[in-house]
Amino acid sequence: MSSNVPEIFGSMVFNDAIMRDKLPKDIYRSLKKTIQDGKDLDLNVANVVAIAMKDWAIEKGATHYTHWFQPMTGVTAEKHDSFISPQNDGRVIMEFSGKELIKGEPDASSFPSGGLRATFEARGYTAWDPTSYAFVKDGVLCIPTAFCSYGGESLDKKTPMLRSMETLNEQALRILRLFGNDDVKRVNTTVGPEQEYFLIDRSMYEKRKDLIYCDRTLFGARPPKGQELDDHYFGAIKPRVQAFMKELNEELWKLGIMSKTEHNEVAPAQHEMAPIYDTGNIAVDHNQITMEVMKNVAKRHKFICLLHEKPFAGVNGSGKHNNWSMVTDTGVNLLEPGRSVHENAQFLLFLTAIIKAVDEYQDLLRLSIASAGNDHRLGAAEAPPAIMSIYVGDDLGAVLRAIENGTSYDGKQKSKMDIGVHVLPKLPKDTSDRNRTSPFAFTGNKFEFRSCGSSMSVAGANMVLNTIVAESLKQFADTLEDASDFTIELRDLIKSNLKKHKRILFNGDGYSKEWEKEAQKRGLLNLKTTVDAIPVYLDAKNIKLFKEHKIFTEAEVRSRYEIELEAYSKIINIEGLTAVDMAKKEILPAVNRYIRQLSETAYFKQNLFLSKDVPAALPEKMEIDLIRKLSKLEDSAYAAVNRLEKLLDDAAKLDHQDKLKVAVFYKDRIIPAMAELRKYVDEMESNCDKAAWPLPSYGDMLFSV
Ligand code: ADP
Ligand code: MG
Repeated sequence: MSSNVPEIFGSMVFNDAIMRDKLPKDIYRSLKKTIQDGKDLDLNVANVVAIAMKDWAIEKGATHYTHWFQPMTGVTAEKHDSFISPQNDGRVIMEFSGKELIKGEPDASSFPSGGLRATFEARGYTAWDPTSYAFVKDGVLCIPTAFCSYGGESLDKKTPMLRSMETLNEQALRILRLFGNDDVKRVNTTVGPEQEYFLIDRSMYEKRKDLIYCDRTLFGARPPKGQELDDHYFGAIKPRVQAFMKELNEELWKLGIMSKTEHNEVAPAQHEMAPIYDTGNIAVDHNQITMEVMKNVAKRHKFICLLHEKPFAGVNGSGKHNNWSMVTDTGVNLLEPGRSVHENAQFLLFLTAIIKAVDEYQDLLRLSIASAGNDHRLGAAEAPPAIMSIYVGDDLGAVLRAIENGTSYDGKQKSKMDIGVHVLPKLPKDTSDRNRTSPFAFTGNKFEFRSCGSSMSVAGANMVLNTIVAESLKQFADTLEDASDFTIELRDLIKSNLKKHKRILFNGDGYSKEWEKEAQKRGLLNLKTTVDAIPVYLDAKNIKLFKEHKIFTEAEVRSRYEIELEAYSKIINIEGLTAVDMAKKEILPAVNRYIRQLSETAYFKQNLFLSKDVPAALPEKMEIDLIRKLSKLEDSAYAAVNRLEKLLDDAAKLDHQDKLKVAVFYKDRIIPAMAELRKYVDEMESNCDKAAWPLPSYGDMLFSV
């Protein structure tokens, strides 16, 4: 199929062009105004929009509609209702009302609520986010919505994201006004998430319970070849993968998702898709859809798309680089170093606000990318460490130092660096290897938050980023609005904040051991695991921040703390149970059968040779050797699996009200027990006949496509 991209692009989206086309002028205008001002939609307007939307959706093959939302499970949820409405004469007509468009009432009781439900009604409701367009997917009209409890507490990832965009808008506008930008009415965040993923053959996936239940391998000996030759990165894309990517692009384009770049990644069987950036909440929605479409398209090509952060030990895992910036409704990127003195001072103020925010809220940023899966990557020499720091590159670094010290910037620019007086040197877009090791790198006109996990929603990371930067901007605006001499106050503010927060700047190798030591000396946080990170939710300063910026109430913060701890424990529990199941039902019996086979061979050989009067040296040395080795490993593995099983039992008996204690148990006891079992199993695999091994090997999975 050759496709006309402009023609298919957005063909399944009820976008602005369609709305203008299908809606009466006054309705369109009033909807647009609602969207721009973030106000509630008038029911009369909603009724007209709903009918137009339904008629359009039916043309696109839809029979159902759904309020599409993002509960705390991290995946999207939808409950389909058909448009049919019965008539008196036994027929049906297709109906959809404004009420149904604006608000849905799914039963919230099966979604994680972290205790919020205990105090409020079980019902929840979903409310249309009209800034994110409705779309038709698989015969269903999907209406992007926020999901709340009846008491109004947010139960999803979208609500806090939207709230954080509001607070950032508010505070950024205050700053812009100070610089005389009176024409700007709105500041939005822009987000471009680069999505990494693995593709493996579906038939192999189906033979591995660990992949089926956990999305990652729990066992698997290293193949003779891994990623050491670097021959996969940006390598020629194989025809079968190319066919997948072609269909993926077309499906994404139809949904209005600007899939732009595709290439092979570092690990064998690993790939990446990068979209063109969009407004924050839309980019988050699009990324959720992208992950879903990737999985579905992969199946059609007899692949399985693995989005887990670490599906295979020993080769790189997958991340999601979250490119982030701020843009005005007049089209100005606030992180674009300007050409004029005036623009530069403004740029430096926003940059300083970010530096201050990242330093003061390292803990929340770390928390925003914490998950059981991502724990396998962070700090594993393939992803940034768990320590947060900012890379600004050499040129900008020198500029910042000059400002801080009030000295001259000794780059291309000779003159004394003084805010509001001089022009910045041209800053190259630094794409050197060093910034790849940084969790938070300035890349010319945006920041790249590189620590996000491949499977997670980027809503959390962006929500935190927006909120902490809004807080810095708020403090700056408070000071500057009261300044008697704006220029002097501005310079002092930038200078003093750079001095105070420079410890967070680091341009060196983030993967190195030295950095860990250096970071500790600088007093930077190193929250190694998810379980170390989650408790920071409850720090007084963080609760205060969320409350002040109307992101979360204290009850909402506590609910997220509980939900995330519980999710962690559940994931490790499933992994533990799967490991036990595979070891006991598949791996140990297979090794046992192989030992028997070896024994039989040895026995037959012996009889054969004895009958021919062969003397002394028994020719079954290999069999005896292997039998001994495998029997020993088998016993060790058996003991290890029993220990793991016992620990899982113990975990189940813990008081599950104390979610932190349970999570700590999983981290400190279950994970090491799983690692021990894996060690024996992988060694058995390395010593077993391939035909006897019950699971596809790493080599099969990573190199067979
Ligand atoms: P690379 O980092 O590979 O050199 P780019 O810098 O062009 O490539 O873009 C990487 C990602 O960053 C893309 O998804 C792109 O859309 C996104 N991006 C570019 N500019 C911005 C911006 N101002 N805000 C947010 N994301 C951006
Ligand atoms: Mg990349």
